[in-house]
Amino acid sequence: MFLSRSARSISSRLSVRVFSKNQAASIGSLRNFTEEEIMLRDAASKFSSAIVAPKVREMDENEAVDPAVLKGLFDQGFMGVETPMELGGTGASFTSAVLIIEELAKVDASISVICDVQNTLVNTVFRNYGNAELQKKYLPQLAQSKVGCFCLSEVGSGSDAFALKTKAEKKDGYWLLNGSKMWITNSKEAEIFLVFANIDPSKGYKGITCFIVEKEMGVQIMKKEQKLGIRASSTCSLNFDNIKVPEENVLGELGKGYQIAIGILNEGRIGIAAQMLGIAQGAYDYTLPYLFQRKQFGKEIGNFQGMQFQYAQVATQIEAARLLTYNAARLKEEGVSFITEAAMAKLYASQIAEKSSSRCVEWLGGVGFTREFPAEKFYRDCKIGAIYEGTSNIQLQTIAKQISAKYKD
Ligand SMILES: Cc1cc2nc3c(=O)[nH]c(=O)nc-3n(C[C@H](O)[C@H](O)[C@H](O)COP(=O)(O)OP(=O)(O)OC[C@H]3O[C@@H](n4cnc5c(N)ncnc54)[C@H](O)[C@@H]3O)c2cc1C
Repeated sequence: MFLSRSARSISSRLSVRVFSKNQAASIGSLRNFTEEEIMLRDAASKFSSAIVAPKVREMDENEAVDPAVLKGLFDQGFMGVETPMELGGTGASFTSAVLIIEELAKVDASISVICDVQNTLVNTVFRNYGNAELQKKYLPQLAQSKVGCFCLSEVGSGSDAFALKTKAEKKDGYWLLNGSKMWITNSKEAEIFLVFANIDPSKGYKGITCFIVEKEMGVQIMKKEQKLGIRASSTCSLNFDNIKVPEENVLGELGKGYQIAIGILNEGRIGIAAQMLGIAQGAYDYTLPYLFQRKQFGKEIGNFQGMQFQYAQVATQIEAARLLTYNAARLKEEGVSFITEAAMAKLYASQIAEKSSSRCVEWLGGVGFTREFPAEKFYRDCKIGAIYEGTSNIQLQTIAKQISAKYKD
């Protein structure tokens, strides 16, 4: 590649890569996917409409995931998307996981978050920080049959996650775990728990360590929350009462759990952005046909300019959320910094999910407000996007921190 000196200098100053004209044409848009990514996206779309859709209302009413749907997620390879094939996974890209999460959320955000947590949080912690033995032991189980969960939040530590109080005390050959967690997604179905506990509170956050705890070691599943949305996804409190965790079940380095939590949540936010994008698109796709069937004043309601401007605006915002999300995913895959872009994607996609689903309820008129139609469910399900894996304020704080750093000495 022949680049002018000035192009090289711009490229190094802005830390962007510069391509020749011919290369640029082959890079293409953010909608360029590999064959495998397209195949997995289409498989998730088919699974959502054939297997998930008929059960959505029932699962929401029962506030529980249907076991056959959960099994289907494993059978389809959606619970170990990036797990290498030799460890029983699908061996696909991060973008594949993002596309699957989006497709599932178009139909049911609860099923989407089950898949999201398993892939972008639990499996990734094992892949990025687990030693070969731990990966060999746990990743195949997580890809094929066992649900995992990510246990960071506690009663007194949400946004301020590192104020956690759960403790692990070193004993002869094991760690003694005591404490409790709150708001843990997938915890009712889970058999493998990634638990963040402090091994030396005198060191503050530098005592936080990540432990792999199996349900049978004595995890107590306490209260299951009754929620506004994503009701089929379980969210429970957990209790650890003198649990003996084998020495070898420390994931990553002692006292480096805070780094794991920060790193993984940066990445996980792209998954939540994809979930929110799916909600925004799902509500929109469901509602638009109605606008051209329903007539008022002798005309399809979708042909009134007051409606046209609204759905054109929402379509534009969904597209912008999509590009932010896909771009953050590709940046992560390229191994360059993606913290700001991931926070922006989650912040914006959750806002647009709220906007799209709220508008869809309105566009459907009275029927949109009833539980016979899914619009109200999309509207309830979207709200969590502004809360978990960092509230919207925390995303703004992250973005502002990255921006302001550029202007400090
Ligand atoms: C359905 C659900 C599933 C969840 N799943 C998981 C899970 O699987 N694992 C897990 O560990 N946790 C999970 N959580 C917890 C979730 O991550 C926390 O609820 C979230 O981080 C917010 O913490 P909090 O609820 O304590 O709110 P708080 O931190 O008390 O925040 C309350 C309000 O104060 C604002 N605020 C707080 N600090 C600041 C600040 N510095 N600047 C400006 N505003 C601020 C927040 O933006 C928010 O609006 C889940 C929560 C829910 C509801």
